[in-house]
Amino acid sequence: MRKKIVAGNWKMNLTSEEALKLNTAIDTFVAKNEPKCEVIHFSPYIYLNEGINSVESIAIGAQNGYPEKNGAFTGEISMYQLKEIGVRNILIGHSERRQIFKETDAFLKSKVDAATNLDLTIFFCCGETISQRENGKHVATVITQLENSIFHLSEEQFKNVVIAYEPIWAIGTGKTASPAQANEMHQAIRAAIQKNYNAEIAKKTSIIYGGSCKPTNASELFHQSDIDGGLIGGASLKSEDFMSIISTYK
Ligand code: PEP
Repeated sequence: MRKKIVAGNWKMNLTSEEALKLNTAIDTFVAKNEPKCEVIHFSPYIYLNEGINSVESIAIGAQNGYPEKNGAFTGEISMYQLKEIGVRNILIGHSERRQIFKETDAFLKSKVDAATNLDLTIFFCCGETISQRENGKHVATVITQLENSIFHLSEEQFKNVVIAYEPIWAIGTGKTASPAQANEMHQAIRAAIQKNYNAEIAKKTSIIYGGSCKPTNASELFHQSDIDGGLIGGASLKSEDFMSIISTYK
């Protein structure tokens, strides 16, 4: 059985008080209900330390990290520093990092290597724009993103990878990929993993979906054959909504 994962991407949201409250509420909920999935909050840097020290049943991950260990990189936080405070999971390749901060496939590859060297679990995000989908290039776009930044890892290293398929046109827009559209892409990703690695690794890799996932659509999405959970933005900021999504795996 593949690992199921429900992860919240808080992005640049919440006050410190709200962050602590949300971490505590979800941690308590998970401890009590023991859902059959791993639950992670990808939190802003400044709340990581307190988050890590205040939860027991969920994980707290980082939304970003700089690949160099240390040095003259004003304003950056290294993955090494993150690991040192107890971070075990990191997002790499989110479309907001690709689009707003112009992170290239080559730079993402260097982040993948740094995270791998630190034994961090990588949540590698990939996804197409609406025009790439309309032009029938969505599958090729996503597979190229994987080939350019993560498929160079060895079989052993790839075991620390979770793929998050997030169609850009569905992020924060209220438009969700239909369960069939999402599952088709997850199957294509799994087939590409099988081609680059082997059937066993393809079968074991968790591939989660992100893009306007909410309580009303999570269940249908998560019950698709190749969808192993979700990366949740907006709906992870409201404890009731996030609990409801987690409960898909009760
Ligand atoms: C995300 O940013 O990873 C995301 C999936 O956002 P939303 O759920 O708000 O579309």
